[in-house]
Amino acid sequence: MPEVFQNYIDGKWVDSRGGATFENRNPADWDDLIGVFPKSTVEDVDEAVAAAKAAFDAWRLTPAPKRGDILRRVGDLMVERKDEIATEMTREMGKIKAETLGDVQEGIDTAYYAATEGRRMFGHTAPSELPNKMNISFRIPIGVAGIITPWNFPMAIPTWKIFPALVCGNTVVFKPASYTPRTATTLVRILEEAGVPAGVVNLVHGGGSVVGNRIVEHPDIRLISFTGSSEVGKRISAGASETLKRVSLELGGKNAQIVMPDANMELALDGVLWGAFGTTGQRCTATSRLILHKDIHDSFVESLVERASKLRLGYGNDQGVDVGPCVSEAQRNTVHEYVEIGKNEGASLVLGGEFATDGDLAKGWFYKPTIFVDVSRDMRIAREEIFGPVLSVLKVDSLDEAIDVLNDSVYGLSSSIYTQDVNGAFRAMRDIEAGITYINGPTIGAEAHMPFGGVKETGNGHREGGWTVYEFFSEWKVVYVDFSGKLQRAQIDNY
Ligand code: NAD
Repeated sequence: MPEVFQNYIDGKWVDSRGGATFENRNPADWDDLIGVFPKSTVEDVDEAVAAAKAAFDAWRLTPAPKRGDILRRVGDLMVERKDEIATEMTREMGKIKAETLGDVQEGIDTAYYAATEGRRMFGHTAPSELPNKMNISFRIPIGVAGIITPWNFPMAIPTWKIFPALVCGNTVVFKPASYTPRTATTLVRILEEAGVPAGVVNLVHGGGSVVGNRIVEHPDIRLISFTGSSEVGKRISAGASETLKRVSLELGGKNAQIVMPDANMELALDGVLWGAFGTTGQRCTATSRLILHKDIHDSFVESLVERASKLRLGYGNDQGVDVGPCVSEAQRNTVHEYVEIGKNEGASLVLGGEFATDGDLAKGWFYKPTIFVDVSRDMRIAREEIFGPVLSVLKVDSLDEAIDVLNDSVYGLSSSIYTQDVNGAFRAMRDIEAGITYINGPTIGAEAHMPFGGVKETGNGHREGGWTVYEFFSEWKVVYVDFSGKLQRAQIDNY
């Protein structure tokens, strides 16, 4: 019998009211059934929201440093169980264990940052323009936060949202992606064990169109933090405007790495291999475009193809594996459709372009690392997010053209340039249109204590991570204290 998992509402583990369930399977071996999870209904969401609303008052009145202490305990528990959690995550979503260990570590870093933020949460004071009057400001919680997350960072992304939401004094209704409900359950069990009171965090499993949609439209949810595709993000933004919710959207990317002729080529090769094929290309920050200066184009492509062809595909919990499977059959099919589109558009396929089915790979959603050259900027494989192990190589004549090609995208999440020329590097830092730019590093590698997010259709201007996310999860309250004992009219009595 498969293990049966439940929702977590008002401090209790419960089945969905509707009784329906869905299966969760290992993408590297579809015979491996991880468990059965509730396919929740609108009523389940409504119960979770009611619990979160009822818990809000006591939680907002709990001192922020005390809320932070609970998050520190959460971090400690994640440290103790890091290896076990990572193994289970690799089984659930496929990326190799080194990467799921990193995913858990990002959650740990976020927990410890949140723990100390409970003792900061600084406000501003400013002088009053009137005598015997004081102006102060501080941050207050907002209410019930709806948290909707994708599957590719099943631990880190929920922690980026839930931990700051809690430290700021909000309560939470959490809907994880349907491909990673097991990791979400682990996180919520840890929050429970660390002492988060009943109702403060609620977990509702299920699909986006029912559970996600109800979170977006529910009048008692005051803010939504969403990470996922731009398509769904736009729908959420439109839906949430009905009830004027505050919404943070972290969406897709079409990230590029530039390599200039003066770059350290081995470093640039290491960078693009990790950036393009790590997490099987299923990162919002994955290197999807490689922009090569014409002087090094041919030699770089030759070395890249040689090294990429040696990447070992397999089950991410096995030693020596470099690249895991796509998360699902649908995702692998999407990748393959883009490969056909690239071929039809006239790009030249120099590596991969097919399912990987040798031996044990036959039972998983594996796709061979794939490289296209002769890609032009107007092709769909140069413009659309593929979310798989497919790299499009574009050739340019100059740094100006490289930056222009890089910026020619509706997205603007991550970017990278390899060069030893300090002037070129500073121009790139200034002119690249992206939320994140790496100099001599791949497009992936964000650190939890720095702001994370992108420009253009990658988001709506908010940032996760670091200090900036605390702005999203709190409101400013301004208090004027007049101790003059008389009516003082600002802007009138003093001018
Ligand atoms: P997705 O948009 O399909 O789903 C994300 C979440 O939204 C899931 O939990 C899903 O169930 C839910 N959802 C779907 N339809 C919904 C609806 N109508 N209303 C409410 N919720 C709904 O994305 P995915 O396939 O899980 O993840 C991949 C995408 O996420 C990629 O586009 C990737 O670039 C993006 N991503 C972005 C970042 C970032 O920080 N910018 C990080 C990771 C992933």
